[in-house]
Amino acid sequence: MEEMSQMYEDLKDRLTNAGRVLVLEGQGDYVAGHVSLRLPDRPDTFLMKPAGMGLDEMTQENIITVGLDGAKLDGPSPRHNEVWIHSEVLRARPDINAVLHTHPIHAVAFSSLGKPLLPVGNDGSIFFDGVPVFDETTDLITTRERGEAVARCLGQSRALILRNHGVVTCAPSIEEAVWIALKLERACRVQMLAEAAGGPKLLVREEDVKKKGSWSNRSDLHTNVFNYLMRRWTCAQCEPRGKGKVRIDS
Ligand SMILES: [Zn+2]
Repeated sequence: MEEMSQMYEDLKDRLTNAGRVLVLEGQGDYVAGHVSLRLPDRPDTFLMKPAGMGLDEMTQENIITVGLDGAKLDGPSPRHNEVWIHSEVLRARPDINAVLHTHPIHAVAFSSLGKPLLPVGNDGSIFFDGVPVFDETTDLITTRERGEAVARCLGQSRALILRNHGVVTCAPSIEEAVWIALKLERACRVQMLAEAAGGPKLLVREEDVKKKGSWSNRSDLHTNVFNYLMRRWTCAQCEPRGKGKVRIDS
Protein backbone atom coordinates (compact mmCIF):
# COMPACT_ATOMS: atom_id res chain seq x y z
CA MET A 1 0.00 0.00 0.00
CA GLU A 2 2.81 2.34 0.96
CA GLU A 3 4.66 1.40 -2.22
CA MET A 4 1.56 2.22 -4.25
CA SER A 5 1.13 5.69 -2.74
CA GLN A 6 4.84 6.37 -3.31
CA MET A 7 4.39 5.43 -6.96
CA TYR A 8 1.39 7.81 -7.31
CA GLU A 9 3.37 10.57 -5.64
CA ASP A 10 6.27 10.05 -8.07
CA LEU A 11 3.93 10.13 -11.10
CA LYS A 12 2.35 13.36 -9.86
CA ASP A 13 5.81 14.87 -9.38
CA ARG A 14 6.73 14.02 -12.96
CA LEU A 15 3.50 15.56 -14.25
CA THR A 16 4.05 18.68 -12.13
CA ASN A 17 7.58 19.00 -13.45
CA ALA A 18 6.38 18.55 -17.04
CA GLY A 19 4.08 21.56 -16.60
CA ARG A 20 6.91 23.67 -15.21
CA VAL A 21 9.29 22.73 -18.00
CA LEU A 22 6.67 23.56 -20.64
CA VAL A 23 6.05 27.01 -19.12
CA LEU A 24 9.79 27.64 -18.78
CA GLU A 25 10.12 26.93 -22.51
CA GLY A 26 7.32 29.30 -23.50
CA GLN A 27 4.54 26.77 -24.08
CA GLY A 28 2.21 28.15 -21.41
CA ASP A 29 -0.97 29.92 -22.54
CA TYR A 30 -2.19 31.30 -19.19
CA VAL A 31 -4.47 28.53 -17.85
CA ALA A 32 -4.78 26.65 -21.16
CA GLY A 33 -2.84 23.53 -22.11
CA HIS A 34 -2.77 20.20 -20.32
CA VAL A 35 -0.74 17.05 -19.71
CA SER A 36 -1.71 13.54 -18.67
CA LEU A 37 -0.03 10.37 -17.49
CA ARG A 38 -1.53 6.87 -17.50
CA LEU A 39 -1.50 4.94 -14.20
CA PRO A 40 0.59 1.78 -14.72
CA ASP A 41 -1.52 -0.32 -12.34
CA ARG A 42 -4.85 0.95 -13.79
CA PRO A 43 -4.24 1.46 -17.54
CA ASP A 44 -7.82 2.69 -18.14
CA THR A 45 -7.17 5.61 -15.77
CA PHE A 46 -4.87 8.64 -16.01
CA LEU A 47 -3.65 11.60 -14.00
CA MET A 48 -4.29 15.02 -15.55
CA LYS A 49 -3.67 18.70 -14.97
CA PRO A 50 -6.83 20.38 -13.66
CA ALA A 51 -8.62 23.26 -15.41
CA GLY A 52 -8.50 26.88 -14.22
CA MET A 53 -4.77 27.11 -13.43
CA GLY A 54 -1.43 27.37 -15.20
CA LEU A 55 0.59 24.38 -16.36
CA ASP A 56 3.17 25.36 -13.76
CA GLU A 57 0.68 25.32 -10.88
CA MET A 58 0.08 21.59 -10.54
CA THR A 59 0.62 20.05 -7.10
CA GLN A 60 0.22 16.66 -5.42
CA GLU A 61 -3.16 17.88 -4.16
CA ASN A 62 -4.78 19.43 -7.23
CA ILE A 63 -3.94 16.87 -9.97
CA ILE A 64 -7.10 14.99 -10.94
CA THR A 65 -7.70 11.34 -11.87
CA VAL A 66 -9.78 10.63 -14.98
CA GLY A 67 -11.12 7.47 -16.65
CA LEU A 68 -10.83 6.61 -20.35
CA ASP A 69 -14.55 7.49 -20.65
CA GLY A 70 -13.57 11.09 -19.82
CA ALA A 71 -15.23 11.08 -16.37
CA LYS A 72 -13.35 12.59 -13.43
CA LEU A 73 -12.79 9.93 -10.77
CA ASP A 74 -10.88 11.82 -8.14
CA GLY A 75 -9.47 15.23 -7.20
CA PRO A 76 -10.90 18.52 -5.97
CA SER A 77 -10.31 20.61 -9.11
CA PRO A 78 -12.34 20.88 -12.34
CA ARG A 79 -11.57 18.89 -15.49
CA HIS A 80 -10.54 20.48 -18.81
CA ASN A 81 -13.19 20.49 -21.58
CA GLU A 82 -10.53 19.09 -23.91
CA VAL A 83 -10.05 15.95 -21.78
CA TRP A 84 -11.04 13.97 -24.90
CA ILE A 85 -7.66 14.54 -26.52
CA HIS A 86 -6.13 12.56 -23.65
CA SER A 87 -8.75 9.87 -23.13
CA GLU A 88 -9.08 9.02 -26.82
CA VAL A 89 -5.34 9.03 -27.61
CA LEU A 90 -4.64 6.85 -24.55
CA ARG A 91 -7.49 4.53 -25.54
CA ALA A 92 -6.29 4.21 -29.15
CA ARG A 93 -2.61 3.82 -28.27
CA PRO A 94 -1.78 1.21 -25.59
CA ASP A 95 1.92 1.91 -26.36
CA ILE A 96 1.50 5.48 -25.07
CA ASN A 97 1.41 6.58 -21.41
CA ALA A 98 1.67 10.35 -21.67
CA VAL A 99 -0.29 12.90 -23.74
CA LEU A 100 0.31 16.64 -23.95
CA HIS A 101 -1.61 19.50 -25.55
CA THR A 102 -0.34 23.09 -25.72
CA HIS A 103 -0.79 26.22 -27.86
CA PRO A 104 2.83 27.14 -28.72
CA ILE A 105 2.76 30.35 -30.75
CA HIS A 106 5.20 29.42 -33.53
CA ALA A 107 3.51 26.08 -34.16
CA VAL A 108 0.11 27.80 -34.29
CA ALA A 109 1.42 30.50 -36.67
CA PHE A 110 3.15 27.84 -38.78
CA SER A 111 -0.09 25.82 -39.02
CA SER A 112 -1.76 28.81 -40.70
CA LEU A 113 0.72 28.66 -43.64
CA GLY A 114 -0.68 25.34 -44.86
CA LYS A 115 2.88 24.11 -45.55
CA PRO A 116 4.50 20.78 -44.63
CA LEU A 117 7.12 20.81 -41.87
CA LEU A 118 10.58 20.52 -43.44
CA PRO A 119 13.96 19.41 -42.04
CA VAL A 120 15.45 22.92 -42.02
CA GLY A 121 17.70 21.99 -39.04
CA ASN A 122 18.18 19.38 -36.30
CA ASP A 123 14.75 20.01 -34.79
CA GLY A 124 12.85 19.42 -38.01
CA SER A 125 14.84 16.23 -38.69
CA ILE A 126 13.03 14.43 -35.84
CA PHE A 127 9.84 14.78 -37.85
CA PHE A 128 11.28 13.33 -41.07
CA ASP A 129 8.30 11.01 -41.53
CA GLY A 130 5.86 13.92 -41.40
CA VAL A 131 3.54 15.48 -38.83
CA PRO A 132 -0.19 14.93 -39.38
CA VAL A 133 -2.34 18.06 -39.37
CA PHE A 134 -5.83 17.87 -37.89
CA ASP A 135 -8.16 20.20 -39.78
CA GLU A 136 -11.61 18.66 -39.32
CA THR A 137 -12.23 21.63 -37.04
CA THR A 138 -10.22 24.61 -35.82
CA ASP A 139 -12.42 24.71 -32.69
CA LEU A 140 -11.49 23.15 -29.33
CA ILE A 141 -11.70 19.35 -28.92
CA THR A 142 -14.65 19.35 -26.55
CA THR A 143 -16.47 16.13 -27.49
CA ARG A 144 -15.57 12.47 -27.47
CA GLU A 145 -16.19 12.32 -31.24
CA ARG A 146 -13.63 15.06 -31.84
CA GLY A 147 -11.20 13.31 -29.53
CA GLU A 148 -11.63 10.12 -31.54
CA ALA A 149 -11.04 12.06 -34.77
CA VAL A 150 -7.81 13.54 -33.34
CA ALA A 151 -6.60 10.07 -32.29
CA ARG A 152 -7.41 8.77 -35.79
CA CYS A 153 -5.49 11.62 -37.43
CA LEU A 154 -2.52 11.05 -35.09
CA GLY A 155 -2.34 7.38 -36.11
CA GLN A 156 0.97 5.91 -35.00
CA SER A 157 2.75 9.30 -34.85
CA ARG A 158 4.01 10.96 -31.69
CA ALA A 159 3.08 14.48 -32.77
CA LEU A 160 0.18 16.22 -34.45
CA ILE A 161 -0.62 19.82 -35.30
CA LEU A 162 -4.16 21.05 -34.63
CA ARG A 163 -4.57 23.64 -37.41
CA ASN A 164 -4.98 27.21 -36.08
CA HIS A 165 -5.05 25.83 -32.52
CA GLY A 166 -2.00 24.01 -31.12
CA VAL A 167 -0.12 20.73 -30.89
CA VAL A 168 -0.64 17.27 -29.42
CA THR A 169 2.28 15.00 -28.57
CA CYS A 170 2.34 11.59 -26.96
CA ALA A 171 4.98 9.08 -25.89
CA PRO A 172 5.63 6.14 -23.58
CA SER A 173 7.08 8.64 -21.04
CA ILE A 174 6.07 12.18 -20.08
CA GLU A 175 9.69 13.27 -20.53
CA GLU A 176 9.63 12.20 -24.19
CA ALA A 177 6.19 13.78 -24.81
CA VAL A 178 7.61 17.08 -23.49
CA TRP A 179 10.77 16.72 -25.61
CA ILE A 180 8.73 16.13 -28.78
CA ALA A 181 6.59 19.21 -28.02
CA LEU A 182 9.68 21.39 -27.47
CA LYS A 183 11.32 20.14 -30.67
CA LEU A 184 8.14 20.57 -32.70
CA GLU A 185 7.80 24.19 -31.60
CA ARG A 186 11.49 24.85 -32.41
CA ALA A 187 11.15 23.15 -35.82
CA CYS A 188 8.15 25.37 -36.65
CA ARG A 189 10.00 28.45 -35.43
CA VAL A 190 13.14 27.73 -37.48
CA GLN A 191 11.09 27.09 -40.61
CA MET A 192 9.11 30.31 -40.05
CA LEU A 193 12.41 32.23 -39.93
CA ALA A 194 13.51 30.63 -43.20
CA GLU A 195 10.08 31.27 -44.77
CA ALA A 196 10.24 34.92 -43.71
CA ALA A 197 13.68 35.26 -45.32
CA GLY A 198 12.41 34.09 -48.70
CA GLY A 199 11.82 30.39 -48.05
CA PRO A 200 14.30 27.57 -47.33
CA LYS A 201 16.47 26.78 -50.36
CA LEU A 202 18.57 24.04 -48.77
CA LEU A 203 17.37 21.32 -46.40
CA VAL A 204 19.11 18.67 -44.29
CA ARG A 205 20.49 16.17 -46.81
CA GLU A 206 18.21 13.25 -47.46
CA GLU A 207 20.88 10.75 -46.42
CA ASP A 208 21.42 12.63 -43.12
CA VAL A 209 17.88 13.33 -42.07
CA LYS A 210 17.09 9.95 -40.45
CA LYS A 211 20.46 9.82 -38.66
CA LYS A 212 20.10 13.38 -37.41
CA GLY A 213 16.53 12.66 -36.31
CA SER A 214 17.55 9.64 -34.27
CA TRP A 215 20.49 11.49 -32.66
CA SER A 216 18.02 14.10 -31.48
CA ASN A 217 15.45 11.66 -30.11
CA ARG A 218 17.05 9.28 -27.60
CA SER A 219 15.64 8.32 -24.23
CA ASP A 220 18.78 9.43 -22.34
CA LEU A 221 18.47 12.82 -24.04
CA HIS A 222 14.80 13.18 -23.01
CA THR A 223 15.72 12.60 -19.36
CA ASN A 224 18.85 14.76 -19.44
CA VAL A 225 17.06 17.70 -21.07
CA PHE A 226 14.08 17.36 -18.73
CA ASN A 227 16.35 17.31 -15.68
CA TYR A 228 18.40 20.24 -17.03
CA LEU A 229 15.25 22.29 -17.52
CA MET A 230 14.09 21.39 -14.00
CA ARG A 231 17.42 22.65 -12.63
CA ARG A 232 16.84 25.89 -14.56
CA TRP A 233 13.29 26.09 -13.20
CA THR A 234 14.49 25.58 -9.64
CA CYS A 235 17.20 28.19 -10.16
CA ALA A 236 14.66 30.70 -11.51
CA GLN A 237 12.61 30.30 -8.31
CA CYS A 238 15.59 31.20 -6.06
CA GLU A 239 15.91 34.57 -4.39
CA PRO A 240 18.54 36.67 -6.16
CA ARG A 241 21.74 36.56 -4.17
CA GLY A 242 24.95 38.60 -4.15
CA LYS A 243 25.43 40.46 -7.43
CA GLY A 244 21.90 39.59 -8.55
CA LYS A 245 20.41 41.96 -5.99
CA VAL A 246 18.66 45.14 -7.08
CA ARG A 247 20.96 48.14 -6.63
CA ILE A 248 19.63 51.55 -5.71
CA ASP A 249 22.09 54.44 -5.53
CA SER A 250 20.89 57.30 -3.45
ZN1 LIG B 1 -6.49 23.69 -26.93
